[in-house]
Amino acid sequence: MKILLTNDDGINAAGLAALRAAVAGLGEVTVVAPDTERSGVAHSITLAHPLRIRRIYHSGEFFGYGINGAPADCVKLGCREILKAKPDLLLAGINLGANVAINILYSGTVAAAIEGAMLGVPSVAFSVAETEQPDFDEAARIARRVLDGLLGNGVPAGTVLNVNLPGIPEGEVKGIRVTHQSRTSYTDFFERRLDPWGRAYFWITGEMTREFEREPDSDLRALADGYVSITPLHFDLTHYAVLPALRKRLAAEWRGE
Ligand code: MN
Repeated sequence: MKILLTNDDGINAAGLAALRAAVAGLGEVTVVAPDTERSGVAHSITLAHPLRIRRIYHSGEFFGYGINGAPADCVKLGCREILKAKPDLLLAGINLGANVAINILYSGTVAAAIEGAMLGVPSVAFSVAETEQPDFDEAARIARRVLDGLLGNGVPAGTVLNVNLPGIPEGEVKGIRVTHQSRTSYTDFFERRLDPWGRAYFWITGEMTREFEREPDSDLRALADGYVSITPLHFDLTHYAVLPALRKRLAAEWRGE
């Protein structure tokens, strides 16, 4: 099995190395990842400058290919130029920090998996809900166990599976929940500070809202309850529920009715 592995935390991130080691026995793993951290770039691609592929070595051993681009660039370039074929499986992560609720829309990790699904490759994104000092080896062991279960059942084509690990030891994980994306968002605010020349600069921060407490089947709630969260995502953003009424109403308006 040919596996393409990427992330958005960069090719030197600990979460990537841990996942690479955990899935090594599953097949031929090729790492193609951004050469620096690209968290929060979502599904952006590089148009304004050329992309370069650099071979990266860890302790003298070939580790993977570093790209001066976004995660979606890595998937495209990885398939077209490095593997010269579609892989059998695309994995992204393990991301430092959960990719749940609206964070999914900003995530480069999830975007990489979506890019894989767009190419028709079964794709899984992994993130761990811990940003201070996650045990990535432990997280990768749990990720592998989850992945074995997914592969046994077949990852549906065109679907992205967004897996979030609760950031606790395997023995304390209560199980797996298949979840929906929480409606929880952020109350954004900006820290305004002054640079050494007295000019103002801004840094985004924010507080999470708590909708997930009223959403028993949501991704955030699963993590809060000590479960692995698996959310199936698709990249067709059409809001089908409003489609028929909107179609009818706007057509009538155009006709002057
Ligand atoms: Mn990240």
